Amino acid sequence: MFTVTTSRITATDAQGQQHTVRVTRRGQWRHVECDTCDWRQRAQLLPRPKAERHLAEAHGAAAA
Ligand SMILES: [Zn+2]
Repeated sequence: MFTVTTSRITATDAQGQQHTVRVTRRGQWRHVECDTCDWRQRAQLLPRPKAERHLAEAHGAAAA
């Protein structure tokens, strides 16, 4: 059994709307999923910069 750990990265865009990207850790893989759109990605390392780049590029939102 894998231990599944979920963490969230939230960011606020220029309109004050909040966007959340969830990072689910499953064994050696991290699944990065955006709640606002259907973007998702799999990463072995450094999911957080990927999430922050998506939030900036797709939603114009800066992570807190
Ligand atoms: Zn998104």
